Amino acid sequence: MNIVLLGSPGVGKGTYASRLKKIYGIAHISTGDLFRENIKQNTELGIKAKEYMDKGMLVPDEITIDMLKKRIQEADCKKGFMLDGFPRTLTQAKELEGMTKIDIVLNFVASPEVIIQRLSGRRTCRDCKSIFHILNMKPKQESVCDHCKGELYQRADEMPEVIEKRLRVYNDQTSLLIQYYSEKGLRVEIDGNLHITDTKAHIIKDCQEVLNKLNC
Ligand code: AMP
Repeated sequence: MNIVLLGSPGVGKGTYASRLKKIYGIAHISTGDLFRENIKQNTELGIKAKEYMDKGMLVPDEITIDMLKKRIQEADCKKGFMLDGFPRTLTQAKELEGMTKIDIVLNFVASPEVIIQRLSGRRTCRDCKSIFHILNMKPKQESVCDHCKGELYQRADEMPEVIEKRLRVYNDQTSLLIQYYSEKGLRVEIDGNLHITDTKAHIIKDCQEVLNKLNC
């Protein structure tokens, strides 16, 4: 089962993907995490990507596509994978089609107010990449990851000016993919307005309803 998770930065794709990974046992591939890992290890790829990421811009297609192509050939992708943050441009979407078959595209939607509040309060673990929020998903101990005791930090691209730029880039480039995948009959919309910890939220249940109907 190969799934694309689509939706604005901050809509919660990473959080939903970790839950779905536990349920379906398929790989979770976040191109943002792959870039951040390369930056941490100071690789050539990381040095190039950082230039763009710190400004809230997209990393050029050639670099991103090449990295993704290699990642989906790894052993943990045999059963399938969830792409979180890829594709982000039409070129990437078309290239992806040539690499593999996509079974479904889950398009998460939330209002601009919800998105901004989520992005600006988000804290990420430097080590295991778990995501917390200063208001609605607080760690037990301030700035410390509940799972691995790693340090929680605010990503450079989650500062207000960069958030604004990332949302503009999403509206200009990535939102075109909503129509692209609708025309292919692959897009299903999932309401991500309520926070996943809200008892009234049924985001994962909605995803499961869609995914359990797939014949793969
Ligand atoms: P994310 O963690 O998905 O919000 O991604 C963080 C940043 O990584 C983005 O703002 C981009 O600079 C870069 N990035 C992640 N995925 C892609 C992609 N598919 N294409 C281009 N740039 C990307």
